[in-house]
Amino acid sequence: MRTDFSAEQLADPDTAESEKVLRTCTHCGFCTATCPTYVLLGDELDSPRGRIYLIKEMLAGGDKVTADTVKHIDCCLSCLACMTTCPSGVNYMHLVDHARRWIEQNYRRPWGERALRRLLGTVLSRPSLFRLSLRFAVPAKPLARFLPGRLAPLFALAPASVPAASSTDRPCVFSAKGERRMRIALLPGCAQRVLAPEINEATIRLLTRLGCEVVVVHGGACCGALVHQLGQEAAALGFARANIDAWERERRASGFDAIVINASGCGTTVKDYGFMLREDRAYAEKAARVASLARDVTEVIGTLGLGGSSAGVTASNRRVAYHSACSMQHGQGLHSAPKALLAAAGFEPVDVPEGHLCCGSAGTYNILQPEIAAMLRDRKLANIASARPDLVATGNIGCISQLARGCTVPVVHTVELLDWATGGPPPKALKTGYRARQRV
Ligand code: SF4
Ligand code: SF4
Repeated sequence: MRTDFSAEQLADPDTAESEKVLRTCTHCGFCTATCPTYVLLGDELDSPRGRIYLIKEMLAGGDKVTADTVKHIDCCLSCLACMTTCPSGVNYMHLVDHARRWIEQNYRRPWGERALRRLLGTVLSRPSLFRLSLRFAVPAKPLARFLPGRLAPLFALAPASVPAASSTDRPCVFSAKGERRMRIALLPGCAQRVLAPEINEATIRLLTRLGCEVVVVHGGACCGALVHQLGQEAAALGFARANIDAWERERRASGFDAIVINASGCGTTVKDYGFMLREDRAYAEKAARVASLARDVTEVIGTLGLGGSSAGVTASNRRVAYHSACSMQHGQGLHSAPKALLAAAGFEPVDVPEGHLCCGSAGTYNILQPEIAAMLRDRKLANIASARPDLVATGNIGCISQLARGCTVPVVHTVELLDWATGGPPPKALKTGYRARQRV
């Protein structure tokens, strides 16, 4: 794509980077076929190619950002299906991240929307504040449909109950069982540990059983993905720096082999810390090092090997529909490893038709764009049902929350199944009855 930014505009490192991305796009349009919003809405401006054009115009136009451009960028899920499809290697992720920052800095949204976005960024990324907010939201959930505007979907997404905080939330070292094979720093996450603390518990049980010493470091924070996607860059970089400082302290003191992340949305962001902080002289090198150590939990388990056991797997829970989160397949390029692990654990993993399409969760998307999110969720649930599974497994808390509403079988995290099959307890969603545990 031709661009004609001025020298002054290109002096901005973000614009210079985006120009490189824009120039790689050949406008071939292959990406439109796999873009969920184009598939649903059929509008070129809600396709990757259309958005790339809009972003070019927006960046060239300085602070003259139109409401129409914002509407189409806001409709983007950041699912990154377009990056998987693109034959030219267009880094749409960096481009749309820049566009969201640009909008945040140069466009004034209506006050209600500004307030909601600020509220979401502040609350969801701080576990104690999120837990407190849910305690108020849960009793109001039955009244959600009577609430005005965006408040209705916000309250509808509250879980049926708020789990108690887990002891694994606190900074701690969990010893390896038997001979130590690896030392792992675990990102404890923010929203996930509030909504489903059993995921970190299963991760720690599984990793320690496989010979890992697991450390939850002091001073770690939210990875910053939620605020990053909202274009709230100062907050996102603040979270990234806090995590980098915490992990670097631990690395210097005791060392570790990998940083393990069990929410693929967070993993995609931590793996991008090097790029996010590339212009920060104090952090660029450390950020690149942290990014190079970041692994999805299934990558590490794949390296270690699961060992031989299929305890708990029976004919009634064997068939598992594996829903690959967008951040897992498109963001991190991880496709077969989680399914191979499920198979090794004795399950029968089956693919979900239209597996490349987002379920509509996408960070805060299901709150900010509830209609499109609901269409995508319903489409995904129909595709899951067609696979006739006993369970659904996925590696991202956002997808679990999105799919648990309306799914006719339990939706669990992949590590909960792997832990169960190798000697851990059954996933909580199975033990207590998934309807009682519906997280949304
Ligand atoms: S597939 Fe890639 S090169 Fe083709 S229009 Fe889409 S982003 Fe551009
Ligand atoms: S990130 Fe997803 S929704 Fe956004 S343009 Fe790409 S494919 Fe479409």
